[in-house]
Amino acid sequence: MNAFSYTRADSVAAALHSAAARPDAAFIAGGTNLIDLMKENVAAPAHLVDITRLSLREIAPSADGGLRIGALVSNSNVASHPEVERRYPLLAEAILSGASAQLRNMATTGGNLLQRTRCYYFYDVGTPCNKREPGTGCPAIAGHNRIHAILGTSEHCIATHPSDMCVALAALSATVIVEGSAGERRIAFADFHRLPGDTPERDTNLAAGELITAVELPARGFAEHASYLKVRDRASYAFALVSVAAALELDGEQVVAARIALGGVAHKPWRDLEAEQQLVGKPARAEEFLRVGEWLVRGARVHTHNAFKVELAKRAVVRALEQARDARPAGPGAVS
Ligand code: SF4
Repeated sequence: MNAFSYTRADSVAAALHSAAARPDAAFIAGGTNLIDLMKENVAAPAHLVDITRLSLREIAPSADGGLRIGALVSNSNVASHPEVERRYPLLAEAILSGASAQLRNMATTGGNLLQRTRCYYFYDVGTPCNKREPGTGCPAIAGHNRIHAILGTSEHCIATHPSDMCVALAALSATVIVEGSAGERRIAFADFHRLPGDTPERDTNLAAGELITAVELPARGFAEHASYLKVRDRASYAFALVSVAAALELDGEQVVAARIALGGVAHKPWRDLEAEQQLVGKPARAEEFLRVGEWLVRGARVHTHNAFKVELAKRAVVRALEQARDARPAGPGAVS
C-alpha cells in the first residue's frame, strides 16, 4: 500500500474543499472496497478525505412522496428500515443477497454505487488491464471470462458491475443526488453508471470531486409484486453470475407496469424500457416472460467461457417475473 495523507471532514463543504485541493484525493466512508483496492495497489490515492462524520445518515420522506436515503446509511440499515421493507421490498431483498452481514454493516449507500468490478485481472497488478491502466489491453477477452459481461461490452473491457443493490435501484428508477463545486446535481440512476466504450477506466458519470449525498426512491415502490433473483456459484458471499430485479403492477392477471433490471451481465445494471413495455397489457404468464427474456439478451456478445449466461439470463428473467407475480401481497398500508 502506498503512503497517503488523511483528513476528516465535518461538513459536505469541507469535504468538497479538501478533495478540490488535491486532484489525487479519494473520499472514504465504509472503505469495504477502497481499502482492498489500496492494499492490492490497484488504487493509490495520495490523500483520503474521511466523510464518515457527515450528516448523511438519515432515511426520510422525499418531496415527491418517495424516500431519500443518505449516502452514509449502511446497507444493513437500508435493508432493515421499516419504510424500505414496507414500500420497497425489492431493494431490501437485493441488499440482503449481497456480501456478508459484517460487510453490510460497514458498507454505505454511496459506496455501494461506487464499488469497482470484481474482474480478476483488474485486481492483479501483474497483468495488463484497460480499466486499471488505460491502453494496456484487456486480457479477459481471450482469457478467463466466465464471470464477464455479455451485454454492452466494448473491445476495451468486458467487466461487469458487481452490486446487487444497484440492480434494484435501477429497476426502481432511483435518482442519485450529488454535490460538487457547482452545487447539487440529480442524476437518473440509468445515467449514473457507464458502459465501457473506449473509456473503461470511468465507471460512472460523477465529475471529479463530486460527492454522492443521497439516493432518492420514487413513490412507486412495486411493493406487492417484486422479486430479486440472484444466481451464483455458491449460496452465500458470492457475486452474481446473473441477477434479476423484477417488479410488476397487475390488474388481475394483466400486466399494468413492469420493471426488469439485470445484474452480472454488463458494466452497469442493465435495463431495457422497450422490454418492459412489451409486457404491458399482456397476461402475466411464463410464455410472455420468456419473450421478454429473449428480447433482453438479443444483443449479447459472448466469449469463450461465458456463453452460458445468455440462456441463464433468459431463464432467470422468467423465474424472477414469476416470483414477482406470485409474491405475497405486502402488509396493510403497503404502497405500490
Ligand atoms: Fe480490465 Fe475490463 Fe479487461 Fe477486466 S474486463 S481485464 S477490468 S479491461
